[in-house]
Amino acid sequence: MKRLADKVTLITGAGRGIGAAIAFAFAREGAAVVLAELDIETARQTAEQIKAQTGARVLAVQTDVTQSASVQHAVSEAEQAFGAVDVLVNNAGINVFCDPLTMSDDDWRRCFAVDLDGVWNGCRAVLPGMVERGAGSIVNIASTHAFKIIPGCFPYPVAKHGVIGLTRALGIEYAPRNVRVNAIAPGYIETQLTHDWWNEQADPAAAKQATLALQPMKRIGRPEEVAMTAVFLASDEAPFINATCITVDGGRSAVYHD
Ligand code: NDP
Repeated sequence: MKRLADKVTLITGAGRGIGAAIAFAFAREGAAVVLAELDIETARQTAEQIKAQTGARVLAVQTDVTQSASVQHAVSEAEQAFGAVDVLVNNAGINVFCDPLTMSDDDWRRCFAVDLDGVWNGCRAVLPGMVERGAGSIVNIASTHAFKIIPGCFPYPVAKHGVIGLTRALGIEYAPRNVRVNAIAPGYIETQLTHDWWNEQADPAAAKQATLALQPMKRIGRPEEVAMTAVFLASDEAPFINATCITVDGGRSAVYHD
């Protein structure tokens, strides 16, 4: 028996990176998968690959998580195509790394619009149905920035702290209706986001080496390693895990200092 057999799942920002890895993993475990993604072309390409490799039912829907109507539309499309949404993964996120006092108002707003409002918009779109049916699992992709601070990375950690707060608040609010809300806090995971950050540094190769040197396992994580945890939290293997966060960082956040 596959671990997500016949579950209808919706994953935001699933065209690439961690979201795409989660979509692949869910499809392999028998889920019907909806890729709710800003860049519809990327989403369609990923959807085709998933279909070809797994035979799963897959749908790509153009979605901007900063707009509640857009997320609501994605949920309606999912319901029409496959039925009620059993699992939501709020994965879409952006890095906004600034110095607090020179940051523009626009940087503050776009960070919160995607990284926190986007998560709430997803939750709000699926919760009424989940509450009514008395079943559901929401997995929010936070970050180790949700409880650790690196100077110069403002306001991303502020928004990610908010994702943990939202996870805990909603997890408790809807626990009596058997709706679980959990988070995953990835450390460094090799995706476009990570490469973009290295490439912004004066010496990208040196920045990458410095990142690897900081890791207890001397490597950074793979998107598939986050996806395995998402499968677990979304599945019926985690029925009593709620309002919490699982860290996937190879132990890095346990280090006091280097
Ligand atoms: P990527 O940038 O590789 O992928 C993010 C995806 O989200 C992209 O496809 C992007 O689309 C999409 N997206 C961005 N904005 C929106 C939006 N408004 N609406 C819908 N989709 C959107 O990032 P990662 O895979 O690395 O990150 C995924 C999540 O994991 C994020 O929440 C991130 O904060 C978190 N994370 C990542 C870590 C890492 O090391 N990689 C570490 C800790 C947390 P488009 O390409 O069109 O912009």
